Amino acid sequence: MNKTDFDNCGFTHSHYKACIQHALDSGYRFLRMKDALNKLDDDKIILMRHDEDLSLPAAYNLARIEGDLGIKATYFLRLHAKNYNLLSHESYSIAHKIIEMGHEIGFHYELHTHPALLEKEMELFERSKSLMESLLGAEIIGMSYHEPARFMNEKDKRELPPGIQYEAYEERFMDNYKYISDSSAHWREGCMCQHIGKEDRLYILTHGFWWFDKSPVENY
Ligand SMILES: [Zn+2]
Ligand SMILES: [Zn+2]
Repeated sequence: MNKTDFDNCGFTHSHYKACIQHALDSGYRFLRMKDALNKLDDDKIILMRHDEDLSLPAAYNLARIEGDLGIKATYFLRLHAKNYNLLSHESYSIAHKIIEMGHEIGFHYELHTHPALLEKEMELFERSKSLMESLLGAEIIGMSYHEPARFMNEKDKRELPPGIQYEAYEERFMDNYKYISDSSAHWREGCMCQHIGKEDRLYILTHGFWWFDKSPVENY
């Protein structure tokens, strides 16, 4: 990739692809979250995480780019989203295609966000997790909290629910990797391409909804 690919950062799929290619050319290895639970010796590692809040077709656009470049990422999916239903034929088949590419699926935890869900949180969690696992035919061992800044106190140390081996904001990730996020289509510390080569270990959160081919309105 030449320099001009990184002079005008944006949220286009072509820039997403260029960033990953740049990381691969620079010697990084991309791991799924479940592959990074134990201490690793590799120097250059990227954990690519996706919290899919709004749109599975948008998530699939990124999954396909990653699949074409031979990397694996982690997709945290919701069961109570207003804008997609994992039981619908479209969502179900997209989730299966994402799994077939070798990406990991995790539980995007939102039971803390609504009084009706919070009331029977753990009971609902166990049912939700087993529903997601039987729908997808895949074991789920990881979760990420939906909107932690809005719904959780930083000191609020929650126990991991049954069957969950990791939560995405745990210290093993946050302390050992440089964490950057595209929240609200804004990289607070600069686009991911600007960190590649500067930081050996990167933990990148992106949301497929912000990324587009020609115009952001493709997604809404
Ligand atoms: Zn960039
Ligand atoms: Zn979320």
